Amino acid sequence: MTPLDVKQDFPILTQTVNNHPLVYLDSAATAQKPQMVIDAIETYYKYDNANVHRGVHTLGQRATDAYEGARETVQQFINAPHSKEIIFTRGTTQAINIVARSYSEKFIQPGDEIVLTPMEHHSNLLPWQQVAKRTGALLKFIPLEKDGTLSETAVKQTITDKTKLVAITHVSNVLGTINPIKEITTYAHEMGAVVLVDGAQAVPHMKVDVQALDCDFYAFSGHKMCGPTGIGVLYGKKQWLNQMDPVEYGGEMIDFVELTDATWKELPWKFEGGTPIIAGAVGLQAAIKYLENIGLDKITAHEKMLTDYAMEQLKQLDGVDIYGPTERCGLITFNLKDVHPHDTATVLDSYGVAVRAGHHCCQPLMKWLNVTATARASFYLYNTIEDVDRFIDGLKQAKEFFG
Ligand code: PLP
Repeated sequence: MTPLDVKQDFPILTQTVNNHPLVYLDSAATAQKPQMVIDAIETYYKYDNANVHRGVHTLGQRATDAYEGARETVQQFINAPHSKEIIFTRGTTQAINIVARSYSEKFIQPGDEIVLTPMEHHSNLLPWQQVAKRTGALLKFIPLEKDGTLSETAVKQTITDKTKLVAITHVSNVLGTINPIKEITTYAHEMGAVVLVDGAQAVPHMKVDVQALDCDFYAFSGHKMCGPTGIGVLYGKKQWLNQMDPVEYGGEMIDFVELTDATWKELPWKFEGGTPIIAGAVGLQAAIKYLENIGLDKITAHEKMLTDYAMEQLKQLDGVDIYGPTERCGLITFNLKDVHPHDTATVLDSYGVAVRAGHHCCQPLMKWLNVTATARASFYLYNTIEDVDRFIDGLKQAKEFFG
């Protein structure tokens, strides 16, 4: 396979940081933006900006077409059956919170079980903690295997006919584990539960087909897939969304308002209170087109090549603890023995290499790993073999520095 060569599409990556060419290995936190996305947002603001769904004037129509066109692009990208099942949100966190608030109000009773895993990002944990407190439901966690994967036995022991909802990440932002969503969805449905998938770390890196997964809800963020911050997506099956009430009231979501009562629009607008994130949707659409032009399969293969190469190099260094399974997506979480990950990241930064250090919004998982924090290098389509070499060189310097 020919490695991708797209770094030049990303203006930010042409700079030097601390007198070294920037090597950006923090895409799991947020990805960089290609010129095409920056241009789409600029063009929108320069020529088409207006509020949507209201104006009869030309710009209002253009903005509405751009916004609703972006929805259709998202629908096709994840193969959702209907564009009305695509709700624009601020990001994954808001998407999950909408379901936690609205679905649980209708469908979760005291004593019902909500199944999660210990590898959830706080954004897919805290909303369910709140649901449990509000409704009297119980939280259950599918125990992890030693390598940070989920076994079929553990899944089947945890999801039972008491389970009402399973909320699970598609890809772990710490371990890189790719969870068997299709199998989990099939089993959960047999048990009568619905499944929400946190796709924040999956959609940017692999082809996701919500109909093939047969999940009930799927959430992801634009900014991790080369789109702007402030835009994300909640996909939901209309059989559920139609029964759920809005979470935010006012602005774009209304149909008819009287002084003491109101009705609201149908899907998807009933979940999009206020002026929506129009330029964000335009930017997300451009990001999807950019990724599709390259091809999601090629992106997945490129990241795998970089990850395999980085793993080989890391294993040759003494005193590196690597967390997570062999089969993983494009990120590596690690610690240098006896070095705090913040120190590791600081030394790497002085060589122009950006990695993340901390708890990665997964404090319970840190406890499970028996560490307080880790460092994480995450790869994306614009990274190269030279980036990995610079990362490894930086680590060697860090090891030398801390003795
Ligand atoms: N879920 C996972 C697995 C993530 O990695 C993240 C972000 O790091 C989120 C959820 C939250 O995404 P956002 O901050 O864009 O809402």
